[in-house]
Amino acid sequence: TYCFAKDRIRESKTATIHPMDIGLIRGYGIFDFFRTAHYVPLFLQDYLNRFIRSAEKMHLPLPLDRAGLEDVILELVSKNELENGGIRMLLTGGISDNHFSPNTGSLFIFCEALDFPPMSKYETGVKLVSAEHVRAVADIKTTNYAFPVWHSANWKKEGAEDLIYHQNGFISESSRSNIFIIKDGKIATPDQNVLHGITRMRTLELAPETEIRPITFEELLNADEVFMTSTTKKILPVTKIDNYAIGEGKPGKKTLALLKDFLEMEKKVVGA
Ligand code: PLP
Repeated sequence: TYCFAKDRIRESKTATIHPMDIGLIRGYGIFDFFRTAHYVPLFLQDYLNRFIRSAEKMHLPLPLDRAGLEDVILELVSKNELENGGIRMLLTGGISDNHFSPNTGSLFIFCEALDFPPMSKYETGVKLVSAEHVRAVADIKTTNYAFPVWHSANWKKEGAEDLIYHQNGFISESSRSNIFIIKDGKIATPDQNVLHGITRMRTLELAPETEIRPITFEELLNADEVFMTSTTKKILPVTKIDNYAIGEGKPGKKTLALLKDFLEMEKKVVGA
């Protein structure tokens, strides 16, 4: 396969990074991740917006502008024949004398196989394990996922799909997904300490009545339905938090209706 590394498209296995890049030694960098469906990069402009915004907020110069990024992405989709695949853009912090100040980093764009949850998880719903945590600079897609990676041995042991973060009694998000709750027919999602997910944004378009407001951990446990949203999970029902069942302990009607709407929206976008 081919990737973009630093200044041009190359064979993926020839891409390299310097060990003193602060992306590695300080965990300072940004990325974004989206997918193709029938060779169409889904919601590409939204992901490019977020990636460009992350770079600006992290004081990292991007070697390509929006049009340049788009050209590279379309060329990689074509060269790699990426019918249904993931595309990761990564911008590192670069190398600096003091090993601390951001510099001109390296840009990588590479294609990956997708890892969708199996159908059975949409039928039963998944479990999340709660953890007290807030991501640093939460609205920026930084490369620092040390906490959930470190924690993953624990939640996997419990048969969970992922974590759900909370602090001072309020929930924020899962490690790689946003969270919605439904109570008495009313849908809500938090806005503070979250990454503004592209799937979250699309879900808000499908359910414009959603309340965007602080949500307590107690509200989460007492919700009738809970679901998580992300690029690969789409809209995935959550039926257990720690050892509490959510609602009737099975995927809720409203969640499944939203999933159906989302899949239809996706089909329309790719012209299928
Ligand atoms: N929150 C975090 C911390 C994430 O890393 C992600 C995506 O990977 C999301 C939420 C969901 O965002 P999206 O719907 O754009 O995939």
